[in-house]
This record gives sequence, C-alpha cells and structure tokens, in this order.
Amino acid sequence: MSNPFSLEGKVALVTGGNGGIGKAIALGFKEAGAVVVAAGRSQEKNQAMADELGEGHAVLELDIRDEAAVDAAVAGLVETHEHLDIVVNNAGIARRGTVLESPTANWTDLLDTHLNGAFYCARAAARPMSASGRGGKIINIGSMYSFFGPPNAAAYATAKTGMVGLTRALAVEWAEYNIQVNAICPGWHTTDLNRPLLAVIGEDIALKTPARRLGTTHDLAGAAVFLAAPASDFITGQCLTVDGGYSVQDRRWDEGQG
Ligand code: NDP
Repeated sequence: MSNPFSLEGKVALVTGGNGGIGKAIALGFKEAGAVVVAAGRSQEKNQAMADELGEGHAVLELDIRDEAAVDAAVAGLVETHEHLDIVVNNAGIARRGTVLESPTANWTDLLDTHLNGAFYCARAAARPMSASGRGGKIINIGSMYSFFGPPNAAAYATAKTGMVGLTRALAVEWAEYNIQVNAICPGWHTTDLNRPLLAVIGEDIALKTPARRLGTTHDLAGAAVFLAAPASDFITGQCLTVDGGYSVQDRRWDEGQG
C-alpha cells in the first residue's frame, strides 16, 4: 500500500504562506512531497519564502480580497503546473476593539480577508479540480473563535465561525467532485498576528491549556498534511481542533488545580 500521508505528485496553494502558520504548513507540504505555491502580499516576505522553499516551488504576490486577481492566479498556476490539488485558506488579519468603539472598517476588512478571500480561492480552485476529474482538498483555517464569543474581536469571531459554515456547505456541495473540504481550528500559536497580545496574556493561556504551553506553528503542519493527503479521503466537512486541549478542558480545573 502506498504511503497514505504522502503528497508526492500534488500541487498545493497556501494563502498567507509566506509567514506564521501558513509558512509552517507550506514547509510541511514540501516535506511530504508536494509542489508548493505560497501566496502573500509582501514582496519581502515572499522573497524570503521563495528562498526557503527552493527550486521546484513558487511564491505568488496575491491579495486574496481581489476576486479577479485570485481567478487569474489560480488559472495561471494550473497552466504552469497542469493541476491544483490542495488549497489552504490560511491568509488572515486581526483587528481588536469593541463593537461600539471600532470603525466599520474593522468589520469589513476582517470579513473581506477571511471570508471573501477564502470563498474566492476555494471557488477558483474547485473549478479545475472538478473539471479535471482529479478532485482535491480544501483546508480552511478557523480558530477557537469559531466556537467562542470573545470580547474585542466580534468581526474576527464572525469571520472564523463563517469559515466553519463555509467548510460544511462546500463539503456537501463538492463531494460529488471528490473534493474534501475541512477546517483546522488552531488554539493559541505564537505568530506576528498575536505576538503583542501573547506577550501580555500568553503565560495565563499556557496555564489554562492542558498541554501547559502555547502552540507553535509547527504544531499545525501535521494536521494540514493529514487533511491534504489520501489518509483523509473519507473525511469532509469537519473541524480538526489543534489547541493542546484548551477548548475541551473543564474550566473548574484551570491553572493546574486538578
Ligand atoms: P501571520 O500574521 O503570521 O500570517 C498571516 C498571513 O496572511 C501572512 O502571510 C500575510 O502575508 C497573509 N495575508 C494577510 N492578508 C492577506 C491578503 N489580503 N492576501 C494575501 N495574504 C494575506 O498570522 P498567523 O500565521 O497567525 O495566521 C494564519 C491564519 O491562522 C489566520 O487565518 C489566523 O486568523 C489563523 N489563526 C491563527 C491563530 C494563532 O494563534 N496564530 C489562532 C487561530 C487562527 P502578507 O502580509 O504578505 O499579505
């Protein structure tokens, strides 16, 4: 039997693949044998990622909020590589602030990036995946805030809850094309997105996590490889939470008081 976790012969697009979680996933895919295309806006981060990925892989300068640019990028990618097998909708931003005090732009920017961007990328990829008969894998990055109602992050939580709804709906709609759509919901993993916040609350979060530590970006690579590989061919519409147990612990036993 061939290795069910191998990505040999697969082409993978990782949005936000030039840093943080996306970068770790992109490198995990490379390690598993895929040809990786990492997408992001920053030329500087893209160049650094191109150097790290090395020959045979690529980076794309792409703003996923631009529907036409996403369609063109995916079409170009398919023309170059002949097929696209895996998409990770990972690109994201964070804006903190209460609903009553935040500008409307906090809401629209968050939804535009996370939800609209993921929708454009998933749809652009599903067209060649379905037309070619090869099928494929779409992995949406959710969050703990796909499940919790946080203070100061209503737009983020709304977008991340929407990612789970999108995951389920696309999983059902595209099952007939052999496209599996799943989500990964990370807990707290230190990246540029949350470094300043975790500098303040990180120790407390680690104490409230059964694993007694914060996550690393590397903690997410294995879950992504699994959901991108043949090993998960009969899994669709699901959320895989990667949080060291944070979301399932009975709050009574917080801070090691068990
Ligand atoms: P980072 O800030 O490290 O990375 C975000 C990535 O998204 C960057 O590569 C950035 O590249 C890219 N990006 C942002 N906006 C766009 C855009 N419009 N078009 C294309 N690329 C874009 O954050 P993380 O790695 O932490 O976040 C990755 C994902 O994981 C996000 O969806 C986040 O919400 C989610 N997440 C993170 C958690 C954590 O603890 N870190 C927890 C739960 C979920 P560039 O600036 O070059 O565009």
